[in-house]
Amino acid sequence: MKLTIVGCSGSVPGPEAGCSCYLVEHDGFRLLLDLGSGSCGPLMRYAAPESLDQVLISHAHGDHYADLVSLAYHRGRAQAPPVRLIGPSDLPSAITWLTSEPDLYSFEPAVVGTTGAGAMTLRLARVEHGDMEAWAARVDDWLCYTGDTGPCEAIDELAAGCRVLLAAASGLDGDYPRGGHLTARSAGELATRCGARLLVITHLRSWMDADAILAEAVRYADCPVVRALPGLTIA
Ligand SMILES: [Zn+2]
Repeated sequence: MKLTIVGCSGSVPGPEAGCSCYLVEHDGFRLLLDLGSGSCGPLMRYAAPESLDQVLISHAHGDHYADLVSLAYHRGRAQAPPVRLIGPSDLPSAITWLTSEPDLYSFEPAVVGTTGAGAMTLRLARVEHGDMEAWAARVDDWLCYTGDTGPCEAIDELAAGCRVLLAAASGLDGDYPRGGHLTARSAGELATRCGARLLVITHLRSWMDADAILAEAVRYADCPVVRALPGLTIA
């Protein structure tokens, strides 16, 4: 199984990276986790848009789904078959043509539990991100992607025992006193609780000090920690 970081900026694209987008490949199957603003162009460095087999959108914030529009254009142009798209139930209202264009996307509302992704098993959990319907994803026993969530029981249960924890670290400790996002500290603590062998911190805002965020995560994680960068692969 291979994970490629396509985009890792939080909120808006930065000068070096588009927003959240992660390509998971296994046995010839291509699963995309999120497709945030500014990430469809860079995606073409790693996979042809028409070659994707499945897309999971964690929640209907633009930095996680907005480039579905660009992906639809590419796939329509290539006359690719509808791609299976799993996402929050409010995604079709965020992109109104989503369900009226069945030739492009075959949409399924996310539900708690497991589903297939080629030879992989995808497990979804509903997590806490303010008022949003937000989902985190586990791929086999290998990868857990937090999406946007505050610390919560559901993410602890989903992440338990994963090898690679791909976690949003949306700021420093104290930046989110009301929850809604993991910080570098809470991402590090989650990695420790779940027994991850590697923590990859992502959702990094371009105006924040990424070195300080990395240093804080390192302080609280008992496994190696790396910062997501476009093109980083983990296998
Ligand atoms: Zn969000």
